[in-house]
Amino acid sequence: MREVPDLIACEGCDALYRKVSLRRGEIAHCPRCGTELDRDAGRQRERILPLTVASLIMFMIANSFPIVEIELQGLRSQTTLFGAVLSLTTEGMSLVAMLVLATTILFPLLQLLFLLYLLLSLRKQHRPAGFRWLVRAMQNLRPWGMVEVFLLGVLVAVVKLSNMATVIPGVALWAFGVLTVLLTAVVSFNPRHFWQMAFAGDDASGKDHKGISP
Ligand SMILES: [Zn+2]
Repeated sequence: MREVPDLIACEGCDALYRKVSLRRGEIAHCPRCGTELDRDAGRQRERILPLTVASLIMFMIANSFPIVEIELQGLRSQTTLFGAVLSLTTEGMSLVAMLVLATTILFPLLQLLFLLYLLLSLRKQHRPAGFRWLVRAMQNLRPWGMVEVFLLGVLVAVVKLSNMATVIPGVALWAFGVLTVLLTAVVSFNPRHFWQMAFAGDDASGKDHKGISP
């Protein structure tokens, strides 16, 4: 498939439109079905990098501090979410453990790291290696990176663990709360904006569109 950066397809009815540049705060809707086609991301683009960095810091804190206290053979020990996931596995709940691992650790971390890499590279006016692959991966990861999915993962972990462990209302739990709020802002960033950011320089300077050959 060929990527055509100046065309936009409606997600609602598949109609194809030529992209127009939007002014600050403008939103383009499909005239046929009303689906949002595009919105000016000027301010969102400035905010997304600090938000991504803040999310990664919160992610580290949330996963570094103990979130539950487990009692095993009379010994009480505190463990992080990852440790708790391992405990779920040893308790024969591998499926739940995998689900929790994917939704609360793996997918958010991948999404944040991809975002950071793409944003930092584009900031230095340079289209990074694997740009197309990463943007497409971000688009595919998106349904899994949604905050609802993340929250559900944390909730499942807490409910499942509450049978064998006590949830600690400490740093990690608070960090997960803050992370949820930050992720709400981060995941609302449409990966489509990467194309606009990557090709904005080309359009302005009239350079050849090296990046869009099939
Ligand atoms: Zn439409």
